[in-house]
Amino acid sequence: MRIKLDIVPLGRVGGDIIDAIKQELKKKDFIVRVYAKNDPPKTALNVYRKQYNAKVILDSLRKLKGKIVAITNFDLYTDKLSFVFSISEYEGPAVISTYRMSPRFYQEKPNFDLFVNRIVKEILYLVGKIEGLKDCPNIKCIMHKTSSVRDLDYKEKDFCKDCKINNVLKGVEL
Ligand SMILES: [Zn+2]
Repeated sequence: MRIKLDIVPLGRVGGDIIDAIKQELKKKDFIVRVYAKNDPPKTALNVYRKQYNAKVILDSLRKLKGKIVAITNFDLYTDKLSFVFSISEYEGPAVISTYRMSPRFYQEKPNFDLFVNRIVKEILYLVGKIEGLKDCPNIKCIMHKTSSVRDLDYKEKDFCKDCKINNVLKGVEL
């Protein structure tokens, strides 16, 4: 069964980025629907930190049905962490920030493909979390939790052997 995924752009995520993500996910056999661009809830903004509270954004997405992954260009934080690439819940929703995935953030020259690749990897990881999969210790595995772009670049867009076996046993079709 193909997985239906709904992308919710929040803030100023480029249309070209969204299109490229959509194409990549289609290659992975996802059925992707993209919501009209929206703004993150104002209550999520912490003006002192100049960041958005990821949990507040997550709460605002609960009213939407289906497997929801919001994508924002704004920097996200949680009560416990100074920044996060993403947060998610079992069965959704999830929210991901592209802010620290852009090569420009690291004073590197723009690289569209690398940027999109990082976002797609994080989305695939989030879909795994939405499906109830656990974080994987294998640093090459898509289900390995990463909090640096170096680790994100190192991992592959696929499950490791152990995760593949686990998915079959759990009946997760990913
Ligand atoms: Zn794995």
